[in-house]
Amino acid sequence: RAKAQGRGRWAAHQPGDSDPATDRLTLLEQLRVALRDGELRVHYQPRVHAATGRTAGVEALVRWQHPTRGLLPPSAFIDAAEDSGLIRELGAWVLQEAVEQVVRWDRAGGDAAGLHVSVNLSARQLAETGLADRVAGVLARAGLPAARLVLEITETALMSSPELALRTLEQLGAVGVDLAVDDFGTGYSSFTYLKQFPVDELKIDRSFVAGLTTGVGDRAIVASCVHLAHAMGMIAVAEGVETAEQRDALVELGCDQLQGYLFDRPQPADVLFPPLPVGVA
Ligand code: C2E
Ligand code: MG
Ligand code: MG
Ligand code: MG
Repeated sequence: RAKAQGRGRWAAHQPGDSDPATDRLTLLEQLRVALRDGELRVHYQPRVHAATGRTAGVEALVRWQHPTRGLLPPSAFIDAAEDSGLIRELGAWVLQEAVEQVVRWDRAGGDAAGLHVSVNLSARQLAETGLADRVAGVLARAGLPAARLVLEITETALMSSPELALRTLEQLGAVGVDLAVDDFGTGYSSFTYLKQFPVDELKIDRSFVAGLTTGVGDRAIVASCVHLAHAMGMIAVAEGVETAEQRDALVELGCDQLQGYLFDRPQPADVLFPPLPVGVA
């Protein structure tokens, strides 16, 4: 492409050019720069109590404000970050940012005060030594009680190395944070492990929620997930709730909390909860 554009050999190779190995390298180099130069953003999506519709918390979801490609979703860069190990730095940044944001919301004292915040952890982060200590450090420095933080780990990440996950979850549990199994139902859970994990919530994958009002199978799966969660002392959270029919079915099935476009899309902090004008308290 550099030649075709006649820009000489220093023209940057862009993602989307033909060589996938080079593309990935370029993407990673750009992502490293993005972390350093502050191009990453955290958007927040509320989750509501099924019974009342009141906001229970927000999930932090990373975005990349790319200089030429616009706002990129995690699917455009999380896998590359995970494969390369850059996910540790990225994950640490998201955690710090999200924890500081809820503390700012607390201080502002508006509708957003007192919310829980959920942060996603990848398989690689779960394998980090000293993760629990670092999480405790971030909370202590920000002054946020551990009980206000939920760490979400996908079923697939948990089961990819369950013995290791068990140890890390126990350490995180000892710090006092809540733990969630994300995308539940899409991986291969072993009940032998699931019953040992000190988990506080099951997040039912949105693929089952999508089929809830059309497929008998999906309704049975969601009902089973809710029962399983409650029988094991966890709450059940549904993700990807897009319609009022899905919401009503989830309430009927006893699901505790709901998250999805029906309520809110993920948005920047000050769009979701606009700051009060100065002087109005
Ligand atoms: P997730 O943790 O399961 O997050 C929920 C995803 O579902 C988000 O996609 C959210 O925007 C989307 N979603 C929410 N409500 C609806 C709905 O009603 N309908 C549909 N179709 N989608 C809905 P997003 O933000 O693109 O994130 C995708 C995944 O990327 C996340 O899935 C999570 O696994 C991962 N991810 C996001 N942020 C981070 C992060 O900071 N660290 C790590 N390790 N992974 C992250
Ligand atoms: Mg999640
Ligand atoms: Mg999920
Ligand atoms: Mg999901």
